[in-house]
Formats: sequence, C-alpha cells, structure tokens
Amino acid sequence: MIVLKGAEVSAKIREEVEQILAGSGKQAPKLAIVRVGENPDDMSYERGARKKLESFGLRVQSCPYPANISDEDFKKEFRRVNEDPDVDGILLLRPLPKQICEKDIEGMIDPSKDVDGISPTNSAKIFAGDSTGFAPCTAEAVVEVLKQKGIPITGKRVVIVGRSMVVGKPLSMLMLKENATVTICHTRTRDLRGTCQGAEILVAAAGRAKMLDDAYVGQDAVVIDVGINVDENGSLCGDVDFDSIQEKASMATPVPGGVGAVTTAVLAKHLALAAARQ
Ligand code: NAP
Repeated sequence: MIVLKGAEVSAKIREEVEQILAGSGKQAPKLAIVRVGENPDDMSYERGARKKLESFGLRVQSCPYPANISDEDFKKEFRRVNEDPDVDGILLLRPLPKQICEKDIEGMIDPSKDVDGISPTNSAKIFAGDSTGFAPCTAEAVVEVLKQKGIPITGKRVVIVGRSMVVGKPLSMLMLKENATVTICHTRTRDLRGTCQGAEILVAAAGRAKMLDDAYVGQDAVVIDVGINVDENGSLCGDVDFDSIQEKASMATPVPGGVGAVTTAVLAKHLALAAARQ
C-alpha cells in the first residue's frame, strides 16, 4: 500500500500560492483567525494554521474573545474584523458558544473573505459547481490529495462516510464536479460495510476512531481518512484502522500527516486567492 503523505501535497500547493502571489502583486495577505474561548482543539488548530501560513510567507492575526462574550458584542467585534481593509480572509473557529447565533455570523461574513466556505453564498456556489467561491478547506483538501497524486476521479465510485456541512456534503459536490459517482453514508445507512466495499475511492469523515477496518475496504481501493480522533492510548488516529487495511487498499492517507496537513495549505491558497481577487 502506498502512503499518501500530506506534506508532499502541501509542498505543491505552496508553489501554487507563490504563483498566485507573484501574479497578483499582493505580497503578504492577512488571515484573521476569530476564536471565542480557549477550546484546546481550536487553539491547536490555530497554532497549526499560523505555522503553515507563516511558513508560506502569509500573515496571521489572532482575534480571540472571551467564552462569555454576548451575541451583540461578538457581532460588533466580528463586523469590525469583517470590514477591516487590511484583512483579506477570515477563519472562524467553530462551534461558537451557545449564546452566539452561528447562523447569523455565517450570513454576515463577507463571501470574498470567507476562506473556509461557511457563508450561504459560498455553499450555493459549491452546489452550483461554480468555482469562483470558496469550499470548506478540508473538503477541498481531499480533492487536492487525489489530484496532486494523479489519482483519477472521473467515473469512479466514490463513497463518503459523513454528511456534515464541513466535510461530507461539500465534498460530495466537489466530487460530483470532478465527474465521480458519489454515495454519501451516515448513521442511518443500511449495510455501511457493503457500500464501503464497493468504493474505488473511500473517504472517511465520521469522527469515529478506527471504525473502518479492512472489512470495509474493497481490494485496491484508495482510502482518504479525514478523521481526527484520539484512540484508547491517547494517540491521534483517524477513522480508518490504518494497520488493518495494508493488504487491501492500494493507497491511503495516514493520520496524522495526511489530510490535516493539506487542509491548512488549502487555507493558505484560499487566502492568496481572496487577496488576489480583492
Ligand atoms: P460531524 O459533524 O460529527 O459529522 C460526522 C458525520 O459522520 C455525520 O454525518 C454522521 O452521521 C456520520 N457518522 C458518525 N458516525 C457514523 C457511523 N458509525 N456510521 C456512519 N456514519 C457515521 O463531524 P465533521 O465535522 O464532519 O468531522 C468528521 C471528522 O473529520 C472528525 O474526526 C473531525 O475531527 C475531522 N475533521 C478533520 C479536519 C482536517 O483538517 N483533517 C477538518 C475538519 C474535521 P449523521 O449525520 O447521521 O449523524
């Protein structure tokens, strides 16, 4: 089985970012990372994104707010960031605390700065197959891995386990645009195992540690693992039981070191594009 390493894909995306920046004359676009509270997962993602973007020569501004900020105050602060001409892109770490209406913020964010594709405008564009918008970075990272590794998508049976707005749903639309035949699975899917076995490209985005083992993988399938979980020993792991699929899959992404590394590279690419388009 060939291990599809995220770092190699990320390096190719870096070259694209450099080309976009050179072509646009924008030297160092700025990303604002908006975080409410101090959730360790958010803080770890923020650190990773900052490190990757800065290594690409991009700027990052942290915008942290207290966990108990009111809906009204947060909207006031968010509007300020949204309207700041020095901010080219905004990454909102979610979920937000209950007192803040997340839907309102999704509706407020300037679609041209919405580099993680949360606004209704960008969702609609993905649905319409219009590539002038921004897809959620993780969903696009899956397509980038396949494309950069030269894995054909056209006509392939793609099975996606998970139907969230962050990964499964937008990814299904991106795969459709690439002419795949797409099946989306979720907790009500009957015969998940049989459905997954029929996949030529299997994408795991369920958020369940090692739930997909070799019994779910067809011979020579390509397996892309989006999951980020902690196993019984406290180690990071994906939704796929990586060791068990070695003899079944032809290629697979590891966790860590797979899709996660590509997600932040896609974020950098979106920021460069946002700045170039503005
Ligand atoms: P989510 O909102 O919890 O959605 C999980 C989806 O998986 C739901 O649609 C759920 O079905 C489905 N599912 C859960 N258990 C299942 C099961 N046993 N059988 C079949 N379907 C099942 O999660 P998410 O935000 O999409 O994230 C998914 C995973 O990706 C998480 O591990 C997350 O940490 C990871 N992630 C990684 C990145 C990255 O950069 N690599 C970025 C974002 C997320 P229902 O709809 O029926 O409930």
